[in-house]
Amino acid sequence: MKVYLDNAATTAIDPVVFEAMKPYLLEEFGNPSSIHSHGRRVRSAIERSRKTVAELLNTSPSEIFFTSGGTEADNMAIRCTIDDHGIKRVISSKIEHHAVSHTVEELAKEGKIQLDHVNLDGEGVIDMDHLESLLKSGEKTLVSIMHANNEIANINDIEKIGELCEEYGAKFHSDTVQTMGHFKHDLQSLKTHFIVGSAHKFHGPKGVGFLYLNNNLKINPYVTGGAQERNMRGGTENVYGIVGMAKALEIAYSEMGEHATYIKSLKSRMIDRLKELVPGVQFNGQSADVENSLYTVLSVCTPPSDSNDMMLFNLDINGISASGGSACSSGSDIGSHVLAELDRDPQRGAVRFSFSKFNTPEEIDYTVERLAEIVGETVS
Ligand code: PLP
Repeated sequence: MKVYLDNAATTAIDPVVFEAMKPYLLEEFGNPSSIHSHGRRVRSAIERSRKTVAELLNTSPSEIFFTSGGTEADNMAIRCTIDDHGIKRVISSKIEHHAVSHTVEELAKEGKIQLDHVNLDGEGVIDMDHLESLLKSGEKTLVSIMHANNEIANINDIEKIGELCEEYGAKFHSDTVQTMGHFKHDLQSLKTHFIVGSAHKFHGPKGVGFLYLNNNLKINPYVTGGAQERNMRGGTENVYGIVGMAKALEIAYSEMGEHATYIKSLKSRMIDRLKELVPGVQFNGQSADVENSLYTVLSVCTPPSDSNDMMLFNLDINGISASGGSACSSGSDIGSHVLAELDRDPQRGAVRFSFSKFNTPEEIDYTVERLAEIVGETVS
């Protein structure tokens, strides 16, 4: 049996999305910047896609900018705000995705910003009082805190963080890559300057994403060299990617309730079966709180065992694709910067399983049985 449980890394493209993209790979090949009819038809497809994304997020098309994915959108938000708004300090957390953490660390190394990290508890939950006390200091600040963590599934209260940022006059960027298409974002009520999306996390194509940039904030172009994306990002657009992303988001929104219920049932099943078959199993972060975490992700903390180092390899041999992360116990393994921040036994292993609408209960049962065998063979 082949089982794909690495949907937080990337998802399979939905065949309906692929069908929507096909005309823009074949017959509709014009350059959207050309003024002739071949170009104009393609330009309209891009603008229709922008309108679709904007309507789903309850905002205006003028606030949506297409990018090459989540990493670029995060970079654009952070780097442009710092350069163009005289920001001298960034508040972030130590468990952001590298698209954010490496970017702000680099800016701190260059001396452009002071970087402050908000305190986290042993499960990776943000200390909101500490965040408020940092915000009170009066520096011109950008807060960059993700919506849901891609490794441990914790969800941050970005509504509350947005309110705090507004109260203290800070700019707010949230990396929403893992929740886009899985949770609704209403940009009329969310007090944020930037959120981001990446199509391949919600059954769209790879290499395309978007940045929502609040109309009240002006930034200079991120990529120069062309007038595309209203002068903000030069370069001929990834037309079929953009069309596919809009279709994928449309499907995700129309099926969200049904899929959330289904995927939560798979996650609950995995938790229950693991507790039955793997004595001593634990879960990292808040990922086992099915109703209050990113429901697509379960981070399993396996008991101390000689097999932990080889866990992903052994799962792979059994046809199961998942991803890992160890808390940096050996010199050669740089490990997971997220798990390293948690209060957990470093002797335990960590496997991240992440689900999609295409997974089945049979796949969950098969995976837990194989995992139990692997752990059982060498429990120390
Ligand atoms: N942010 C988060 C939370 C992610 O999980 C990812 C992808 O793993 C990214 C950003 C980067 O997105 P992309 O692959 O589109 O560059």
